[in-house]
Amino acid sequence: MGELYLVPTPIGNLGDVTFRAVDTLKMVDLILVEDTRTSSKLLNHYKVTTPMQAFHMHNEHRKLELVTSKLTAGINIALISDAGTPGISDPGFLLVREVLSLNLKVTCLPGPTALIPALVQSGFASGRFVFEGFLPSKKGRNKRLEMLFNESRTLIFYESPHKLLKTLGQFSEIFGPDRGVSISRELSKMFEETYRGSIKDALDHFTTQIPKGEFVICIAGNNK
Ligand code: SAM
Repeated sequence: MGELYLVPTPIGNLGDVTFRAVDTLKMVDLILVEDTRTSSKLLNHYKVTTPMQAFHMHNEHRKLELVTSKLTAGINIALISDAGTPGISDPGFLLVREVLSLNLKVTCLPGPTALIPALVQSGFASGRFVFEGFLPSKKGRNKRLEMLFNESRTLIFYESPHKLLKTLGQFSEIFGPDRGVSISRELSKMFEETYRGSIKDALDHFTTQIPKGEFVICIAGNNK
């Protein structure tokens, strides 16, 4: 039987890949990638010549059977996403569930993901936290936030630059303008920075400094 490896890849800085990740990508027979052009940059940099196949949110359902039949035939497969850990706001979960249901072996290597550095450098309690990923894009955003109002653990959200102000506005309405926030952008990249303050201050800040890049938002838990 083949084995499925979930291999985390850098979230910006190519140096953030582990030796084991590169060895695994060279060892497997096939690499499933979200976007062949994006992953080619990483694979070329580390001289990985393993064949690639596309596996993304638009074809993952259709591909499950094909992938599991390859594993059953003894082919070792790695899954990578465009950045970070597969299965974390990226395709991965459906495949892992399917592979486990067939009693095949799955291993996720430890490695880069955006939420952990953002949390640890936020200064908010990092021993217990809630990762919410992206809020729903249209309906259900307020309801989700209302459910989190009393949460005492640190909250972590992913957000795109064009929705950052809208999201901070909703945080202000629901969590209150004085709740602490830490917003990390472009982690591990040249223009990495973290803004720490109240939600109200962050709204003022990002109204004048137009949000650019990729963002992780950490919100202090409700400990009142
Ligand atoms: N699988 C990835 C992980 O393990 O973190 C997440 C992929 S998700 C499609 C992309 C989102 O992750 C971005 O919109 C942003 O919220 C966050 N993200 C990814 N890379 C980042 C970075 N370098 N700096 C800040 N946020 C990042």
